[in-house]
This record gives sequence, structure tokens and C-alpha cells, in this order.
Amino acid sequence: MQDPIRSITLPTADRGEITLPEPSWCRGHADHRPDALRADILHRGPNVVFVFRGEPVMSAGLVQAPFTTNDIPELDSPALGIAVTPVGRNLDARSVYELAADLDAYADRLRDLADHLTALEGERGA
Ligand SMILES: [Zn+2]
Repeated sequence: MQDPIRSITLPTADRGEITLPEPSWCRGHADHRPDALRADILHRGPNVVFVFRGEPVMSAGLVQAPFTTNDIPELDSPALGIAVTPVGRNLDARSVYELAADLDAYADRLRDLADHLTALEGERGA
């Protein structure tokens, strides 16, 4: 079932109040500033955050800049993407799958490192 069509109205410095469709995944524009330009409007979904011991390590969430005049893949584009921090890029689905695979491989390397530490501690009789 398709979501009902929502719209929002936002003030902009260059175009006055504008009304645009609001995607169902967008978390809203509570932080929108009236001195922002229309091209700066950014739809953002909730972030998926990886936190370790209270510290954020990585986050990712859907983004779309519907009025940007740039079309720079992974940086500023009207295409729907996933903003990944601290990678600092907006990635397409294929790239996020690649990132997830690299994270899986990195987790294996972390386990190998922990195994190495455990072995060294065993040699020292710790
Ligand atoms: Zn939005």
C-alpha cells in the first residue's frame, strides 16, 4: 500500500515559502533555517547508528537533496542515497552493500587481532 502523499512548506531565502512533497521516510525539517536556500533543502531519514561503549562509530541514513543544482555523485545530488558518516559520502545501495561486506571483513580482522593479543598474553603467562 502506498503512503499517502504528504507535503511540507518551508521558508527559503531565495524563493520565499515553497511547498514540496515530503517522502514518507523523511524525519522532518525541524532544523530548517529560514535563511537556507531552496537548493540546500535536504530530506533525511532516521540514522542507523553504530555505538560502541557510548561512542558513536558510524551512522548511515537515507538522504535526498531535491533541488540541488549540483549532480556530484556521492556528494551532492538530487538522487536518493545513503549518507554514511564518517565516510563522508552519499552511497547508492550497491555501495552500501560493499561497505557492509567490508565491515564484515573488518570484523574478522578485529577477531584475528584479539586472537593475537590473547595468544601473546598466553605466552607471557598472563
Ligand atoms: Zn523532508
